[in-house]
Order: sequence, then structure tokens, then C-alpha cells
Amino acid sequence: MARPIRARLDWSALRHNHNVVRRHVGSARVWSVVKADAYGHGLLPAARALIEATDGYALVELEGAVALRDAGITHPILMLEGFYQADELPLYAELELTPVLHTAWQVDALVEACLPIRLPVYLKLNTGMNRLGFNHDEFAAMLARLVAADCIASVTLMTHFADADEARGIQQQLENFRAMAGGRELPVSLANSAALLRFPEAIGDWVRPGIMLYGASPFPAMQSAAELDLHPVMTLESELIAVRELAPGDAIGYGSSFVAEKAMRVGVVACGYGDGYPRHAPTGTPVQVAGQRTRTLGRVSMDKICVDLSELPSTVGVGATVTLWGGAGDMHLSADDVATAAGTVAYEMFCALAARVPIIDVN
Ligand SMILES: *Cc1c(COP(=O)(O)O)cnc(C)c1O
Repeated sequence: MARPIRARLDWSALRHNHNVVRRHVGSARVWSVVKADAYGHGLLPAARALIEATDGYALVELEGAVALRDAGITHPILMLEGFYQADELPLYAELELTPVLHTAWQVDALVEACLPIRLPVYLKLNTGMNRLGFNHDEFAAMLARLVAADCIASVTLMTHFADADEARGIQQQLENFRAMAGGRELPVSLANSAALLRFPEAIGDWVRPGIMLYGASPFPAMQSAAELDLHPVMTLESELIAVRELAPGDAIGYGSSFVAEKAMRVGVVACGYGDGYPRHAPTGTPVQVAGQRTRTLGRVSMDKICVDLSELPSTVGVGATVTLWGGAGDMHLSADDVATAAGTVAYEMFCALAARVPIIDVN
């Protein structure tokens, strides 16, 4: 018998969430961000599910771009960090990839490469996040060099916001962007999920949603995924494999970090950090057991989590279904609620889904 853990991936939810993006962005075009194996959901099935809906795919892994092309996908592909070495450029030409250029050596390498086709490029401007991109004083020279070299098909100006999901917002970065890009009449791409939902002025020509496609809120403390009409794509589900009674004073699990104050009924779930469940989730992290919300108890171990069954009917026993996150109806549990309790974000939980968890494709 197989271990009862599984991840259900609901591809119709992915398409629904893409429609939510469309509702917000009007006629802007959509790069579906599928880096990190589509945020842990599986690159090819995610890309295929969106093939009719989306305008392009954005990622950082060259092997991922190769896999998309091998699968027959002909959409534009945006490489969010560009190429890492100049010797990747012939493959960029062969696969017709769109590199983001964020460093001078990349511009030099492209200009000097004499590729057999002209590639569209994204020129990345640093407007305050201070990770990648050209500063104000460098940008005009880079653009001039690209245009003069006559080796590119088009230039789109791009930036990335540091605080689109935070109180600080995007105004300063947007001002910096306009100060650099203003008057140039080039297409622009600015917004991730948080920015396209909160700041219509940042929608531009191409948006770059990631997390909202997968059904989590980019700002769960402000608005839940349900309030944003986003549906979970990933449901992590397992079963109770043991149930036991604790007497007052009994401890549970490694480190004996949880000690029962009264008689309790507890369940053991076949899911742990070896499956991608966050190890730092403390006692009290929400979990859905047989359609009722309860809490975890004690430390998360590699293969197991303990849950409180004291308030659940005594009929809930071994074999009962447990939703760790995702799900629908009375089995629904928001990944954002779990992430918040565990001091992390749904992005990280999705990406951490372990290879040992069997996938069940739905719809
Ligand atoms: C990952 C990424 C995105 C998507 O961000 P979400 O918060 O998941 O919507 C957009 N743009 C860039 C440059 C990224 O690296």
C-alpha cells in the first residue's frame, strides 16, 4: 500500500486564476511566471494548462526553456535573469528566447555575438530594489548601444518592485522608472501579482504574475486569496495513520515541546518536512481533519505531524482525510493561513513540495 500523502493539482484552478489576472489587466499581455518548476507545481503541466490562455512564459532556468520548446510550446519565453554565460546565446537564438539584460557584460556579449536572428530583449532598470538592473546613470548608454548595434528585434523596459505587497507601495520606484524611461515610447513591464492587483497605474504593456496564478494571495495580511477570487491549484492531502489518547503530562514528538495539560485525543498524519511541510510550523498551525479545522501539536518531524482531535467526533480515526493546505468546500484550508502560522510564505511552501509526494492531476 502506498503512503497516503498526495498533492492534487487542479489545472482548471490555474486557468481560473489566469482569468482573474485578465480581469485586472485589461488589454495588457501576460507572462505567466513558471520559474522554480512553476512554483513547485510542475513546469510542463502548468505551462500546458495555460497554453490557450497566456501570452508567454517567464522563468530563470535555461533547461526549463528547453523543456518548453521540446514540448512544442511556441509562445514567447522571457528569461528573467537573462543568460549567465555568453555561450548560451546560440541556444537563445535557436529557441528564440527573450533575455532580460541587467548587466553591462550581457549587453556587450549580445552585441558581439552576431546571432543569426535578432532577439527581442528586456532591459532591466534598477529603480530601488537594488538587486538587478541598470542605474539611472548607466541605462541610457546601454540602450543606445543596443539600438546602434542593430542586433535586436525590440527593447522592452522592465523593473521589479520591492514593496508592491507592503505599506510602502510602489510610488517611489514608479517615479524613478518614469524619470529613466519617460518619453522613450518603448513598451514596459513592471507588475508582479501584488502590483497588478493593487496598482492599476503599474500595469503597463506586459504583466508578470506568479503567485496569484497558483491561488495564493500576494498580500495575505491585507486580502485573502478567497477575497481576491483566487482558487488553490495545489492541495496537499494525507491521512491519519494512528490515533492515541494522552493523559495530562504526556508529551508529543521530538523535544517533547508539547505537553498535554488535560486528557486529549491526538492523531498522527503521514506528512512531515520530508514532504515539504514547513518544519518551523509551531503548535497551533491550522490543519483540516475530516472537514474540521484543528491544530498541529508539537514539532513537525520528517514524516509525521501530530494533530489535536480532542474537539472532533470520536468517529474521526485512522484513515481520516487531512488537508495540509488547499482543498475546496469543507476541506478547504488556505495555504496562506498555514504559511503565516509557520512564519513563511505560500511561495516557499509550494516550491518545497518534495519529489516523494505523488501527484494527482485534476481537470
Ligand atoms: C518571480 C517574479 C515575478 C512573479 O512574482 P509574484 O510575486 O509571484 O507574482 C515577477 N517578476 C519577476 C522579475 C520575478 O522574478
